[in-house]
Amino acid sequence: MEHPENHEQYKGLQVNSGVTSQPTVNPYRTARRARRPELTAAEYVEGIRKGDVSILGRAVTLVESTNDRHQALAQEVIEKCLPYTGNSRRIGITGVPGAGKSTSIDVFGLHVLRLGHRLAVLAIDPSSERTKGSILGDKTRMEKLSQQPDAFIRPSPSAGSLGGVARKTRETIVLCEAAGYDTIFVETVGVGQSETAVHSMVDFFLLIQLAGTGDELQGIKRGIMEMADGIVINKCDGDNVERAKLAASQFRNALFLFPPSPSKWKPEVLTYSGYYELGIDLVWDMIDRYFDYVKKTGYFERKRNEQAKYWMMETINEQLRHHFYGIPEVRALLEQKELRVLNNEQSSFTAAKDVLDYYFSTLRGDK
Ligand code: GDP
Repeated sequence: MEHPENHEQYKGLQVNSGVTSQPTVNPYRTARRARRPELTAAEYVEGIRKGDVSILGRAVTLVESTNDRHQALAQEVIEKCLPYTGNSRRIGITGVPGAGKSTSIDVFGLHVLRLGHRLAVLAIDPSSERTKGSILGDKTRMEKLSQQPDAFIRPSPSAGSLGGVARKTRETIVLCEAAGYDTIFVETVGVGQSETAVHSMVDFFLLIQLAGTGDELQGIKRGIMEMADGIVINKCDGDNVERAKLAASQFRNALFLFPPSPSKWKPEVLTYSGYYELGIDLVWDMIDRYFDYVKKTGYFERKRNEQAKYWMMETINEQLRHHFYGIPEVRALLEQKELRVLNNEQSSFTAAKDVLDYYFSTLRGDK
């Protein structure tokens, strides 16, 4: 008997045998959720040229991918986009954390849009590999801008070395320009090597500074100041106005001691308030003056050509490194040699030569 309760001695209660429960998944539904169809390079380019933000976003993801097939496709897309690029203003923005980069980019960005431009905000964050996410270029940090249809915001790629991250950002610039963004901001945090990388891909480099921390030049490396085409002291509001003005004059004096920049442009120092949106137009006027100046002197073109050469060399260096370290036998030999060098059994130079000789022999197919 299946259920003792059903014995006739029990009255009133009848337990029915169970039924098999219905499957929770619809057995008639066979189609999987359709994957987005893969696009061809030509389709990517067409979408980008039409200003389709979703396709642009997918193309950037392709650029950021480490998958070889994606990379090959990305390179094809970039190549096809190249003829439509170059006609833009590329502006690097740096400052220590808390200097007010995101607040400022938000208001500078709105200013640019009001002038009728289209803006892409990209970022280079060398720590993004470690933190698996970027604090730069995050949409939530640029609240007003992120709601604007004419602004494209993309956080820092998180791909290994700084060189790798920088190259991807540089390639993303190409895609954005082909999509019709005529103003590009590249944000970076002002504490390390990333400024050099940003400097190598922008026309104008803006350094955001703070006043009122005693030694005004503290925390900012001399090299970064030397790269700056404009220094702006943020938070020039409330009781901070006097201190900001003082800081500005200190920066102006400090700049006298610097050698003239290759463009011969004299970096200007201005104060503004990102939060209260004061002096934004003056900062922008300075940037306009810079572009007028370098276009007139021809420095604009010269610098872009140099940057193009630099990125070609960087790409070659990176690929060579990638290939070299990608050979397991080379890495193993390198480890052995390292030990020998550390134990004073071999000099650094002959050890390096042995490893390179081995590498070259693999290229010739001897091994
Ligand atoms: P970031 O780390 O460089 O991106 O700096 P944020 O834009 O996040 O700004 C850091 C802090 O400074 C925030 O609390 C902002 O509200 C504040 N801040 C930014 N700009 C100004 C400004 O112009 N005036 C004042 N008083 N505070 C500001």
